[in-house]
Amino acid sequence: MFVTRFAPSPTGRLHKGHAFSALAAWGAARAAGGRFLVRIEDIDPTRCRPEFEAGILEDLAWLGLDWEQPVRRQSDHLTDYAGVVDVLDRRGLLYRCFRTRKDILDAIGDAPHGPAEAVRPGPHPADEEATLLANGRPFAWRLSLDRAREALGARAWEALAFVEEGEAPAGERGLIRARPETAGDVVVARKDAGAAYHVAVTHDDDLQGVTHVIRGQDLFEAAHVQVLLQALMGWPTPVYRHHRLLTGEDGRRFAKRDQSVTLEQLRAEGVSPVTLRAELGF
Ligand code: GLU
Repeated sequence: MFVTRFAPSPTGRLHKGHAFSALAAWGAARAAGGRFLVRIEDIDPTRCRPEFEAGILEDLAWLGLDWEQPVRRQSDHLTDYAGVVDVLDRRGLLYRCFRTRKDILDAIGDAPHGPAEAVRPGPHPADEEATLLANGRPFAWRLSLDRAREALGARAWEALAFVEEGEAPAGERGLIRARPETAGDVVVARKDAGAAYHVAVTHDDDLQGVTHVIRGQDLFEAAHVQVLLQALMGWPTPVYRHHRLLTGEDGRRFAKRDQSVTLEQLRAEGVSPVTLRAELGF
């Protein structure tokens, strides 16, 4: 059974780019006689707000979409994600990183081989780590690519791959070999903020039986990391369909930060959902 989802983060209202994504996923589920889920990705309490969640659901209903109930809200399941981090930690795949964003950026400037090297800072020496811990300094848990590779074995590492049925940024399609090394040793949790995006997404895609991930090209690189997490956790890798990103009249892509043309605004201006759907090609 085909299962896909639209997984917005309630950090603002939906714009046309989100509408395109949601319509693409919903349309694909309908065409396949499959299931369409909406998942609220609100694990970051500093950026997410409940009123945006309500607004997003209102926008989706206005667009004419329907989805299964109940809607999964990630902030209700933080212990699930912490459990995944715990499993990875007990398998020795994680290390504590006390470096600040500035330390990392400075290191990128100094690194002879570019950013990938700098985002693989490696564990602190044991005595340094003990002092930092004793001083109560905040830290992030990073997934060690070296240890992950060792845990999977060279053969499984070489076989990490996913099927891309959409339009990857460089036009790649079909079976794509995953390159988790591009993202470096990603942060999977922070001491104070809990599990990070990649953990919550892969956990939920598995739990919810998602067979097809349909989302914008801006998340194409994320797939490379997510495939590694799926392999480590024994979760199936869904098929990916990344789609092109819509751009506004100025040629820039729609971004939440400038809240360019929200659906709320369009509705207030009297635009009908039928018109918008036609404009977006649905
Ligand atoms: N929550 C993510 C976002 O709003 C999407 C995650 C995903 O589709 O995998 O950008």
